[in-house]
Amino acid sequence: MEVRDEIDVLICGAGAAGLTLAIDLARRGVSFRIIDRLERPFGGSRGKGIQPRTQEIFEDLGIIDRIMAAGGVYPPMRDYREDGSFVEKTMSEARPASPGIPYFIALMIPQFLTERVMRERLAELGHEVEFASTLTSFEHGEGGVSVRLQSRDGEERIEARYLVGADGGRSFVRGVLAIDFPGKALGVRAIVADVSLTGLDRDYWHQFNVGDMERLVAICPLAGTDLFQVQAPVPLEGDPDLSAEGLERMIAGRAGRSDIALRSVSWASTYAMNARLAERYRVGRVFLIGDAAHIHPPTGGQGLNTSVQDAYNLGWKLAAVLSGAPDALLDAYEEERRPVAADVLGLSIRLLDGHHEQGGMRRGRDTHQLDIGYPGSSLSYHQRVRLSGPRAGDRMHDATLTGAAGQPRRLFDMLTGPHWTLIASEHAYRPVAAARKGLRVVMVGEAAELRDPANQLGMADGGCLLIRPDGYVGATFETDSPDLVDRYLARVLPSANA
Ligand SMILES: Cc1cc2nc3c(=O)[nH]c(=O)nc-3n(C[C@H](O)[C@H](O)[C@H](O)COP(=O)(O)OP(=O)(O)OC[C@H]3O[C@@H](n4cnc5c(N)ncnc54)[C@H](O)[C@@H]3O)c2cc1C
Repeated sequence: MEVRDEIDVLICGAGAAGLTLAIDLARRGVSFRIIDRLERPFGGSRGKGIQPRTQEIFEDLGIIDRIMAAGGVYPPMRDYREDGSFVEKTMSEARPASPGIPYFIALMIPQFLTERVMRERLAELGHEVEFASTLTSFEHGEGGVSVRLQSRDGEERIEARYLVGADGGRSFVRGVLAIDFPGKALGVRAIVADVSLTGLDRDYWHQFNVGDMERLVAICPLAGTDLFQVQAPVPLEGDPDLSAEGLERMIAGRAGRSDIALRSVSWASTYAMNARLAERYRVGRVFLIGDAAHIHPPTGGQGLNTSVQDAYNLGWKLAAVLSGAPDALLDAYEEERRPVAADVLGLSIRLLDGHHEQGGMRRGRDTHQLDIGYPGSSLSYHQRVRLSGPRAGDRMHDATLTGAAGQPRRLFDMLTGPHWTLIASEHAYRPVAAARKGLRVVMVGEAAELRDPANQLGMADGGCLLIRPDGYVGATFETDSPDLVDRYLARVLPSANA
């Protein structure tokens, strides 16, 4: 069979992880294709919570305003007692807005709407998902990956320099690589269904029999739609009736109410909860991201968010290495993201246990993913120990700064885009960084382009922060260390080698 195409990256799977990677590669000008075996986009609500850290990423990718407009905020919860009375509670702890944290509550948007917004963004960047196209086999070697696809047009062979398996929990790519996926079945199986119903108002997330895993049913209005999402644990064996009549009977039996009438079911599924983590995220030129690398229960709304953040971590590294940066940069993907998934697995399981015991759906700061960082990464370099602000590996928080004419400026506006950013205190400009492709230098100080009167950056005593394209502090430097800055950039930016 003729090789019909040669590309840099083939993304297998157009769920949230694959689409995030596609948008990131598209804005970096990398040649890629993204395929999905589905005939058309998936239509179920599935992961509906977008955590604050993911909202920051969506801002960088240019979709946050649309995501917010398409979705909404979580309504308060109503827990009904046997006698029909109820108590109300909020899902997450209220926390005040601060300059450093522009997004501070989880958003609700059904996954099919999130993915629709992502595909729109991808189209703006000149790409589209190839649906009805299945990865059927691949062979990988030192020079690249030979891939076979089956689509409506027949079989196709392409040569890619890298293959990314974003192909979900039953990943074909993971299977071909024979990567172990150890973990455990959690002994919980549940229905999730998107339904149209009457009898409940849309201002609350209604929950009946909280704490009783045999009779619990939770019914949540899905922001951005006229639908409700029904979730209910079911026995491990058997075929629950997922028709409108069957679900209406189940709700009537568990809620003890005959006034909730189901009109239609637009999507319904049963799934057994598992917690599993791939032994490796990289084999040569092949990577795993998203559910292909880790699966966990939906408690805490972490699955989709962790998947998006895998892609966001890998995208800039792939683009840099494709442009000549050292290959070791790609090893840092697994090094950084696998421990995060291990932690998230533990958190989701703890929340699931809490749900069993006392209906513990309340979510705290740990679910927001704002405190995730890579302090132990081989990419994190901390020369400047006196700095009071963020340290190497920390998420770079936002800050409200002022321009030379007193105009307000957000730090995140400087970071938005595919580049690295060196934030240097006023006297650091000349010695620390000559202009180079892929690096933006921002000077902060009393006579500089930006001022930080409240010392939100923690740079009052000088120094430099080097921020990675994915918004984490890569390194901190003294102001008089241009050789160290150069040496660091040579590991991550191809132009620094030239
Ligand atoms: C029933 C259910 C309920 C969930 N509820 C929640 C929740 O409440 N909160 C939460 O955070 N997460 C939830 N999740 C998890 C969340 O949906 C996933 O974490 C998220 O979809 C992961 O995104 P992904 O892109 O990695 O994988 P997926 O969304 O699974 O996408 C993988 C894609 O790869 C495609 N594919 C597979 N094999 C091939 C192949 N050989 N060739 C081409 N394409 C292929 C598939 O068609 C699919 O579109 C739920 C998942 C399920 C299934």
